[in-house]
Amino acid sequence: MRPGWSRGTVVGSVRTPELDRLRTVRDRSQTIGEFLEWLRSEKQVTMTRWTKGLTDTRVCRGVQGDTDRDNCDAGVVRHNITQIVGGAVTFRAHKDALCPVCRGSGREEYEVEAQDVPWTPQIEELLAEFFEIDLDKVERERRALLEELGRQGARERGSDA
Ligand SMILES: [Zn+2]
Repeated sequence: MRPGWSRGTVVGSVRTPELDRLRTVRDRSQTIGEFLEWLRSEKQVTMTRWTKGLTDTRVCRGVQGDTDRDNCDAGVVRHNITQIVGGAVTFRAHKDALCPVCRGSGREEYEVEAQDVPWTPQIEELLAEFFEIDLDKVERERRALLEELGRQGARERGSDA
């Protein structure tokens, strides 16, 4: 069971289960946050993340499998290109047409090898994820609570009059 699940604050008709859970992890969360800040400021520790699926661009190599690997000349096809695909000869492009790979740009996108990439997460969001706190719910509950307290205040002022 998640911490703070069984107990619950109730103010008027407003329940605040996520705020309650946030309260139960606040001390630990704060300590971790301070530790991370200490690593950054005192130890000059930076974070990177092993990242796959990044792309870069390079000079277009044109249609692969063609006899002339450099059949793309700054985005323009140098000669008629046919490819053998699945045993069938497939026509790809006319000479002087826009290259079908880069569509005339002369550059093609390609996937680079996985690498360490600098990572600067929002620490508050990271801690919330770690403690399984939904910050949107927290904000909604906080607003509902303030509205309820405002209504109660108005009623009390009304009864004093
Ligand atoms: Zn090209």
